[in-house]
Amino acid sequence: MSIFEYAPAPESRAIVDIKGSYGLFVNGEFTDGHGTPFKTVNPATEEVLAEVAEADASDVDAAVKAARKAYDKVWGPMPGRERAKYLYRIARILQERAREISVLETIDNGKPIKESRDVDVPTAAAFFFYYAGWADKLEHSGYGSTPLGVAGQVIPWNFPLLMLAWKIAPALACGNTVVLKPAETTPLTALLFAEICQQADLPPGVVNIITGAGATGETLVGHPGIDKVAFTGSTGVGKAIARTVAGSDKKITLELGGKAANIVFDDAPMDQAIEGIVNGIFFNQGHVCCAGSRLLVQESVADEVLERLKRRMSTLRLGDPLDKNTDVGAINSAAQLARIHELSDVGEAEGAGRWSPECELPANGFWFPPTVFTGVSQAHRIAREEIFGPVLSVLTFRTPSEAVEKANNTPYGLSAGIWTDKGSRILDIAGRLRAGVVWANTFNKFDPTSPFGGYKESGYGREGGRHGLAAYLKGADA
Ligand code: NAD
Repeated sequence: MSIFEYAPAPESRAIVDIKGSYGLFVNGEFTDGHGTPFKTVNPATEEVLAEVAEADASDVDAAVKAARKAYDKVWGPMPGRERAKYLYRIARILQERAREISVLETIDNGKPIKESRDVDVPTAAAFFFYYAGWADKLEHSGYGSTPLGVAGQVIPWNFPLLMLAWKIAPALACGNTVVLKPAETTPLTALLFAEICQQADLPPGVVNIITGAGATGETLVGHPGIDKVAFTGSTGVGKAIARTVAGSDKKITLELGGKAANIVFDDAPMDQAIEGIVNGIFFNQGHVCCAGSRLLVQESVADEVLERLKRRMSTLRLGDPLDKNTDVGAINSAAQLARIHELSDVGEAEGAGRWSPECELPANGFWFPPTVFTGVSQAHRIAREEIFGPVLSVLTFRTPSEAVEKANNTPYGLSAGIWTDKGSRILDIAGRLRAGVVWANTFNKFDPTSPFGGYKESGYGREGGRHGLAAYLKGADA
């Protein structure tokens, strides 16, 4: 699809050892599950990678009991400076095994190797390093230093290892033990992480990984033996979990969907803004909760921005995720691909103009070309609903106030981007946006020291930074 030709540069998959089948990781050991095993596939080829155990209610119960015992006997009483040593060890192993983990993540998820290698895995290690540093300094956090107990954590498929790190690192640093359920389409790096826990000599039961689909997650969050629910995923499931947890004394944090506005003013540094728009919506195939899926561009530069954007999109390389040249990989599952098709077809039927660069899609696997919709109005479903794919809706505005009004006209409130040469305008607009994270002249930047989270239907609670500790300590508000 690209106007440039490159020699293929595929990363070898020889470094990963994918087993035929995987069990659950409970109390420091791999065990058989009692549910019906399911298959995980490579979304770029549809090759079945492995069969994975499904945890039923008895398995969830065993995992929660193992976590409770480890909390009572070992991890809870352990001084913070000792816990920190395990977190540092895990962080170093993540770095040492980075290539192996990146290749496995790309095979199971479909994301380009350059992203798993340069973003997912290094940032996951950085989270463990960062929270290791907090473990013996909790009394200075402002949130006390008393852990909650056992955390039940459920994560999605878009950043499998990174979401695991966001959940497990602060929980362990604060002295909690965890039972984590990865998404059913991307369980393999969580199971490799279980091996890393063994390699780090983490005491049995401190981390338990149970695999399965929504039913397993539902059993976990409803289990009376957990003290905390941490969920990242869709707003619909998040609301259901909030209802389940209501009335119990479980603490809860929800990181849900988004429909971020990326606002480009006429004085924006244009080359950088184009890169920011591309990064905002095509990074990780747009499977990003904070993706800049609504481009709000000032009317006076709309034609120029669109022309440049289309030219840049024509240089994106879609294809083999293991190829180091690839910019856009595979869509994670057939179900997600069907949803992207459905909403994109609705966009066309609603009258928006649809454009994709010339693009040959591979014969097997799940693929969707980078797509831009123009002439989008605020009432269109593509402007309101999360598509969670490489699809950008373009709207225009004339004044800063109109930009703010349109940006805030969404049930979500996770993130936003502002592109302008004026510092005073950045401060003014950022202060009026109802979004948890606002990037200025950049987009999709993640750092363990910085809190992340949403308003409204994007959820509540913060992950990352000092604020991320509040979710795992008694007495803190979040
Ligand atoms: P999903 O809600 O369908 O699934 C997320 C996880 O929840 C999976 O592990 C799934 O098995 C589990 N689950 C499903 N039903 C459940 C139930 N009833 N009870 C408990 N667990 C259940 O979401 P998805 O399609 O996997 O992920 C995409 C969504 O996640 C998008 O909406 C995206 O915006 C959101 N997301 C948000 C963030 C954030 O930080 N805000 C980050 C990544 C993804």
